[in-house]
Parts: sequence; C-alpha cells; structure tokens
Amino acid sequence: MKDGLVVVAGGGGFIGGHLVARLREQGYTRIRSVDVKPLDDWYQRFDDVESRQLDLRRFDHCDQAVDGASEVFNLAADMGGMGFIENNKALCMLSVLINTHLLMASREAGVEKFFFASSACVYAADKQVTTQLDDGLREEDAYPAMPEDGYGWEKLFSERMCRHYREDFGMHTRMARYHNIYGPHGTWDGGREKAPAAICRKVIQSKLSGSNEIEIWGDGEQTRSFTYIDDCLEGTQRLLHSDITEPLNVGSDQMVSINQLVDIVEKIAGVKVGRKYNLDAPKGVRGRNSNNERIQKLLGWAPGIRLEDGIEKTYAWIHDEIKRGAVSKAY
Ligand code: NAD
Repeated sequence: MKDGLVVVAGGGGFIGGHLVARLREQGYTRIRSVDVKPLDDWYQRFDDVESRQLDLRRFDHCDQAVDGASEVFNLAADMGGMGFIENNKALCMLSVLINTHLLMASREAGVEKFFFASSACVYAADKQVTTQLDDGLREEDAYPAMPEDGYGWEKLFSERMCRHYREDFGMHTRMARYHNIYGPHGTWDGGREKAPAAICRKVIQSKLSGSNEIEIWGDGEQTRSFTYIDDCLEGTQRLLHSDITEPLNVGSDQMVSINQLVDIVEKIAGVKVGRKYNLDAPKGVRGRNSNNERIQKLLGWAPGIRLEDGIEKTYAWIHDEIKRGAVSKAY
C-alpha cells in the first residue's frame, strides 16, 4: 500500500529528510513532510513532496499535519548532541508537546500506524558507568528509570504515552530507541552536532587550517556505538510494519571509544592530529552500546553497516560542505 498519505514530522531535519528521500525512492506517491524550520533551512526537500512549515508543539498545527494520513512518523524534537541536551533540559522536555499532540491528532484523524523516535538516552545511568559495555544495553535496562535528565525523561514518558495509546485506544504505535544516528545531510556545526559529525568537522578544519590539533570532550575513553542512517531507516520501517509493541533498540553494536572514532576519521583524512582533551566539557555517560539480541530475534535483522564505511561517506559530505563555505542548517 504505497498510495496512502505518509506524514514525516521533522522532515526538515536529518533523519526525517532521509526518510522522505527513501519513501520517494520506494515509490510512495503521497508524502507530507512537516517541520518548524523555514523551508529554505531543510536538509532535504523535494518538489513532489508536500512540504509544510508547522509548529507541532501546537495541537491545531498537528491537526493540519496529520489530516488524511494513514501513517505518521514522529521524528520531530528539539534536540542535539551532548552539549545541547545537557544545557537545554527544559527545551528538550517541551518536545513532549509534539508527541502528545501528534498522538491526539492522529487518533482523531484515524491514522493507522504511528512511529515514535525514542533514544538510547532512556537507559538508566547506573547501567552505563563503565567503558566496557560489550554486552550492551538491553531493552529492560530502561527500568527502574533513571534516564538522561531532560531529554531522556521526555523520551521515556513519550514511549509510555505511545504504549498507553495502544493499550487504551487500540492505536498501532511503534517505538525505536535510536543509538547515535549519523550520516550526511545532518547537523555538523553550531552546537547541536553529535560526536561523529563534530569529529569529522574538527579534523577537516584542522587539516585545512594546518593547525593539526583538535579538542576532544572528556578523556576520549568514553565508549559509544554509532548507527549509520541507512540502518536507522531500515529498522524504522521494519519496526513500524511489525507486530512488535515494545520499544526496540535500533542501534549498531560496534562499540568504540571516542579516541577510536578519531583514529577512524584520521585514517580517512590521511592525517594525524594532536588531541587536546577538555575534561570540563559535557561528556554524557561513560559507556553505551546497543544489545541487539531482541531486534535480531524479533525482526531477523539488526544494523550492520561498519562504522568505517559510514564515516567515510559522512566525512566526504561534511568536507564538501566546508569547502563550499556552507553553514550548518541547525534549527
Ligand atoms: P534533527 O534535529 O536533525 O531533526 C529534528 C527536526 O525536528 C528538526 O528539523 C527540527 O526543526 C524539528 N522540530 C523541532 N521542533 C519542532 C516543532 N515544534 N515542530 C515541528 N518540527 C520541529 O534531529 P534528528 O537527528 O533527525 O532526530 C530525529 C528524531 O530522532 C528526534 O526525535 C530525535 O530525538 C531522535 N533521535 C535521534 C538520534 C540521533 O542520533 N540523531 C538518536 C536518538 C533519537
């Protein structure tokens, strides 16, 4: 069924923009993309896609956004990397209005399928205190709840709101916990960027300027896994069309330290840079990785794109952006 109206909330952003592009390629004929940013600031926009500037914190705008829709992907949130979410907790929590109003409007509009983009930031802090998280975070590790303050609490609450809309109102709601999604056409500058884009930008700028030194937040030994955008979208679509009602990790389980991430970027750039560690900068949890047993079991699939391959494409795109003097289109 590719002729029903599909709405992508947050379509002017990184993941939403890629999802719209993918839906077009897959032959979906009716797509509406919605974002609060002015249309000129969207990462990806297409003439054959209905593109609308709406503020989804407002219920009346959500009503307009989902009118006539059969599927809704909620990828809209006020968010950014660790530097943004540690310093903007209230703003992050206000995204609760977006998901709540979208759910209410979607129910009224008779939307058949609703997707919510949750995050690995819902996981309890005490499960992420060492760098050696090889086994990763399992879905049940979100409780007892002690998520990332602000951003993580909003995600956990909104997951439960989706769950109760399913249980109480019979709505088809599906939730993915994304683990650090990265790729081209995303924020790489301006304060909202995340580690992969930030490290690429710093290495490129140090190479171009000849400074040959970059700043790293923390001691560089903190661990993470990073998920390439294509894997994120594959998991998102598979999950929405599945019968899996509980939140599911959509994340790579290739865990690296930030220092190892820098090694990968250096290799692609063909340089070695000095590393200045800023121990006072926002660092987030000490270690985080995705456990993919459940997704593998339930979907028969898990993210598998190697970090080295995804970073190569991301690096090339950011390099081109910097060369042409572009400004990152963060909201
Ligand atoms: P993004 O910032 O590039 O995209 C989010 C978009 O939402 C932006 O374009 C923004 O303008 C829009 N938005 C914000 N407030 C809005 C409002 N009131 N009305 C309409 N649009 C609004 O971020 P992204 O990386 O594409 O993230 C998409 C979703 O995935 C978000 O919910 C995010 O929390 C979640 N997520 C992302 C990651 C990641 O690593 N990128 C990890 C976990 C979860």
